[in-house]
Amino acid sequence: MYQIDQVNLKGKRVLIRVDFNVPLNDNLQVTDDTRIRAAAKTILKVTNDGGKAILMSHLGRPKGGYEEKYSLRNIVPAVSAVLNKTIHFADDCIGEKAAAIVNQMQDGDVALLENLRFYKEEEGGDEFFAGQIAENGDVYINDAFGTAHRAHASTAVIAKFFPTDRLFGYLMEDEVKNIDRVLNSNQTPVTAIIGGSKVSSKIAIIENLMDRVDNLLIAGGMAFTFIKAQKGKVGSSLVENDKLEIALDLITMARNKNVNLLLPTDAVIADQFAANANTKITSIGSIPDGWMGLDIGPASIESFKEVILRSKTILWNGPMGVFEMETFAKGTIAIAEALAEATKSNNAFTLVGGGDSVAAVNQFGLADQVSYVSTGGGAMLESLEGIELPGIAAIKKI
Ligand code: AMP
Repeated sequence: MYQIDQVNLKGKRVLIRVDFNVPLNDNLQVTDDTRIRAAAKTILKVTNDGGKAILMSHLGRPKGGYEEKYSLRNIVPAVSAVLNKTIHFADDCIGEKAAAIVNQMQDGDVALLENLRFYKEEEGGDEFFAGQIAENGDVYINDAFGTAHRAHASTAVIAKFFPTDRLFGYLMEDEVKNIDRVLNSNQTPVTAIIGGSKVSSKIAIIENLMDRVDNLLIAGGMAFTFIKAQKGKVGSSLVENDKLEIALDLITMARNKNVNLLLPTDAVIADQFAANANTKITSIGSIPDGWMGLDIGPASIESFKEVILRSKTILWNGPMGVFEMETFAKGTIAIAEALAEATKSNNAFTLVGGGDSVAAVNQFGLADQVSYVSTGGGAMLESLEGIELPGIAAIKKI
């Protein structure tokens, strides 16, 4: 397998799978160009080498045919602004229309093909369709980490049409390298902080982390299933009653594997799920009936911080509380700040990944103070479960 920095792509037609599934407003303008900016380094490497960058992506969830609101033509101005280049747009991702645009490209040009998901064969992983897309390129680069957990035509199946000329883009390389850096770290102690609403969605992750971390901090709504399982009083906090046994099994597993599993010891409780609720702080296992825990309390913040600040490798997935409401955001802010501090003063490697914790560090303006913020939601979560993603396996396969 080649590394992108080791190849020269001069004169090549380089077909790049990017993740340009960006949000659009009612006027069909891009409202957040983060994903476009994230792919820029790979695209510019191709064009600076003197190659032709042919970009392909999905956008939204079309039903299997053309829909104007999902046309990638809508994002041409945003791509052009990020790359500071003219973008050639093809009204189709396969066939004559795509070929006509690609054939007229000069070295250093960029083209964008129409939404792959206008063909249901894309999500179906259809091999014939993958072969049709492959005709647009001499080299295939996958830089779409956000869809790497899908075995779609353009993310995985297509790789076989480029038996030697296929590689990861910079974004994919970074994601793969950084996830590996937390999951197989020799920079110890290694600490994982897992929050969010439901334990059911994180069981596989927690199990996989047990063999890889020294400290496991569990908070957010999911902590209450663990507290109730240990006979604590959780009032009307979020609990998954069918997961009490599993919570106890995970506690036992941690003990057997010598993992320091830490749960919150206190909580900010509220008399309703609302920003203007009455609130108090109680110990985590004595929440009165009618009250619910919506954030971790000050004592938990202190004990979590203490562990974070002496860790060398830290993974954070999922908020500590209902951070969307300011009243219950303190715990999540404090953990984000502790990660930033560990990065700066303890030279720790800190990775934030998977959905809402990424939203949280962005919201608090701390994204550039941690070592790495993953761009992939589902793809990141599946990686943390220890699954090799189809989009990654397809490039690596010999
Ligand atoms: P997840 O998608 O599982 O990572 O969960 C993220 C969601 O969990 C966020 O929208 C939070 O508001 C929510 N959450 C965090 N803590 C709690 C809690 N104590 N009770 C209810 N929801 C919570």
